[in-house]
Amino acid sequence: EESAKVIDGKYVAKTIQKEIAAEVSRMKEAIGVVPGLAVILVGNRKDSAAYVRQKTKVCESVGINSFEVRIPEDSTEQEVLKYISEFNDDPSVHGILVQLPLPAHMNDENILNAVSIEKDVDGFHPVHIGRLAMRDREPLFVPCTPKGCIELLRRYDISIKGKRAVVIGRSNIVGTPAALLLQREDATVSVVHSRTSNPEELTRQADIVIAAVGKPNMVRGGWIKPGAVVIDVGINPVEDAKSPRGHRLVGDVCYDEVSKIASAITPVPGGVGPMTVAMLVSNTLISAKRIHNFQ
Ligand code: NAP
Repeated sequence: EESAKVIDGKYVAKTIQKEIAAEVSRMKEAIGVVPGLAVILVGNRKDSAAYVRQKTKVCESVGINSFEVRIPEDSTEQEVLKYISEFNDDPSVHGILVQLPLPAHMNDENILNAVSIEKDVDGFHPVHIGRLAMRDREPLFVPCTPKGCIELLRRYDISIKGKRAVVIGRSNIVGTPAALLLQREDATVSVVHSRTSNPEELTRQADIVIAAVGKPNMVRGGWIKPGAVVIDVGINPVEDAKSPRGHRLVGDVCYDEVSKIASAITPVPGGVGPMTVAMLVSNTLISAKRIHNFQ
C-alpha cells in the first residue's frame, strides 16, 4: 500500500527560524537595530492566548523583541485603537498584530485598517490583499498562513507553475490570499466554498489542494486525485476521552484516508501551524529591514 510523503512543517519552521536568527544578529551588529513585534490580545479565549504565547516564544528564540498587550473582553474599540496608534508611532515596533477573533462588539475592519500598512505583518490590510491580486504589484506583506503553505511547497521542491490547484475555503485571512498566491505562482486556481455544488468533483481535479475550512476530516480520500499534494490548514478540536485535555486537534483533511492517495501531505499538528508563526517572525524581520533600509 502506497503512502504519501509527510511534509514536516515543524522541521521546516525550525530551519527558517535559524535563518531568521542569523539575520537578526547580523542586523543588530551592523546597525544596532533589533526588530520588534507588538501583539494585542483582547479577551481571554484559551486558543488565542495559546497562539499569542507561541508567537512571542518564537520571537524570543530568534532574538526579536516582543511587546504584548492584554486587555479585557469588555474593552472598547477606542482602547484597542489607542494601542494601535501608540505602536504605529513607536520606532522600536516594526510589526503590529491584533490577535483574531475580536469580541463580537468590535468592528474588525475599523481595527485592522488602523494598523499602519508599513507595520501590518499579518498582511490583512486591503492594500496588501489588493496588490497580491494585481499583476506586477508587490504587497509589503503576504498573510502568514498562506505564505507558510507556499513556502512548504517551495522547500519540498513541489512546483506550482501550470498546476491545477483547488483552495477549499475563502476567508480573508487564509482561503482568499492562498488562492491569490497560487495564482501569482502560475497555478490555475479554483476556490471551493460553502455554496459550491460539486466540491468533491472539483477537488478531485487538483494537483495541489489547500484545505482551510474549519470542518474536521471533511476532505475524504475520494476527493483527492492519486498523487496530488495536500496542504491541511485546519485546526479543529475534537472530543477525545483518551487525551488529558479531553480533546485533540485534527485537520480539515481525513489524514488516514488521504495519506494513502496523495503523494505528499501535511500533518495536523506539525504542518502549517508552525509555518504560520515562522512567517510572522519572517515578516517582522522584513519590516525592520525595510524601515531601516538594511539589506
Ligand atoms: P473561516 O473564516 O470560518 O472560513 C471557512 C471557509 O470555509 C469559508 O470560506 C466557508 O465558506 C468555507 N466552508 C465552510 N463550510 C464549508 C463546506 N461544507 N464546504 C466547503 N466550504 C466550506 O475559517 P478560517 O479562518 O479560514 O480558518 C479555516 C481553518 O483553518 C480553521 O480550522 C482554523 O482553525 C484554521 N487556521 C489555521 C491556521 C494555521 O496557522 N494553521 C491559521 C488560521 C486558521 P463561505 O465563505 O461560503 O462561508
